[in-house]
Amino acid sequence: MSAVDEIPLTHLSDKKSHHATEAGNYFVANYPPFSFWQKEQAFAVEKVLDSPAPKDIPLGLYFHIPFCRKRCHFCYFRVYTDKNASEIRRYIHAGMEEFTRYAARPYLQGRKPHFVYFGGGTPSYLSVPQLQELTSRMKDLMPWDECQEVAFEAEPGTLNEKKLEAIREIGVTRLSLGVEHFEDHILESNGRAHRSGEIDRAYRFARSLGFEHINIDLIAGMMNDTTELWQKAVAKAVEMQPDCVTIYQMEVPYNTGIYKQMKEEGKVTAPVADWETKRAWVSYAFDEFVKAGYTVTSAYTVVKNPDKIKFVYRDALWEGADLLPLGVASFGHLGGIHLQNQADILPYIDTIEKGGSAIFRAYATSPEERFIREFILKLKLGHSRPSYYKAKFGEDVLTRFAPQLNWMVQEGFAVIGDDQITLTRDGLLQVDRLLHEFFMPHHRHARYT
Ligand code: SF4
Repeated sequence: MSAVDEIPLTHLSDKKSHHATEAGNYFVANYPPFSFWQKEQAFAVEKVLDSPAPKDIPLGLYFHIPFCRKRCHFCYFRVYTDKNASEIRRYIHAGMEEFTRYAARPYLQGRKPHFVYFGGGTPSYLSVPQLQELTSRMKDLMPWDECQEVAFEAEPGTLNEKKLEAIREIGVTRLSLGVEHFEDHILESNGRAHRSGEIDRAYRFARSLGFEHINIDLIAGMMNDTTELWQKAVAKAVEMQPDCVTIYQMEVPYNTGIYKQMKEEGKVTAPVADWETKRAWVSYAFDEFVKAGYTVTSAYTVVKNPDKIKFVYRDALWEGADLLPLGVASFGHLGGIHLQNQADILPYIDTIEKGGSAIFRAYATSPEERFIREFILKLKLGHSRPSYYKAKFGEDVLTRFAPQLNWMVQEGFAVIGDDQITLTRDGLLQVDRLLHEFFMPHHRHARYT
């Protein structure tokens, strides 16, 4: 009997197919859970950085821009809406100082990024000169000539023609627009800064500039959404014909404005659609996109031309690539060690300016944890080949995870065929809820974040 099936699968006995949305995290972004990452393990990152550069591990760069025009009510990131140009400049300088020091370490010397990701916050909040300065300094430290993808998150209301041209010129290949919904009163009542007119303008101009890959993000279950309005939003998204659409199901983590309000009012249930409704809405969207020629490529994405349109950042990360985290609160992974930077901007900048390390917590993964991490994250794609895990990790997933997989088959969440585990639509739409069952026993019932 393996360590994994020694304890009862309590989540799996929860057969409720629908429940109200309560506060907490749904989305599984990484493994082991963040609550296990510790300051004391930061030394493990230093050890990796002193070791020779690997020949066969792809490297990605992540730069975090923590600024937004307004804080959305569902936002669980640490964002700043009050920083002026000189404070932003100081932040960029700190990030580049951090990068300069990393680039000089043996583990990173001579390496070039395979992919670059600008996340936030709102990267498009930066002005054109700020963007140009940031990216030219990044390229001086590590040229982007071997980059397969430069991804950039943008809030439609921050984009104008000049900025979009600059974003294209610095080398962005994947532009991701945080649309979320098209209905103005939904955008407004959820605290979004942009409105539908700005989405149309930004999208049309971005298309005319010839970005290789435009993604739009939607959220199923924003406050005040209805089936009718959701269907209208999906129709609009289909009409736009983006290369990729990412659809999240609304969750209400504890550090959101929505949760704060719930607490003040003594409510347990969040004022958003229940999970069954959210899944039905995503399923509806998947069906509409499939009718329009798209392919469902994961629990959250539909892609117009999957042979051409790839998401390098996601796929490389899930397969264990190195990711150098730059900037406040950034997450990364180097030589098997997870790490996250200081989460507040001023301590982050001060630490860097005084010559210190911005790493706030880290976790040295074991080979077994790296296997589980890759298996669960890639299960979000909706299919998994057991022979891949046998070859890469020497693990027989069908034996090791027999109780979990058998249960999923019985419940109609998965089908097991010849060297193939395939999630059904029902399984795919609640995959994050199911993934906890594949965690090691001591991680399974712990706090996730
Ligand atoms: S735009 Fe994104 S990062 Fe900024 S407040 Fe809204 S959800 Fe948070």
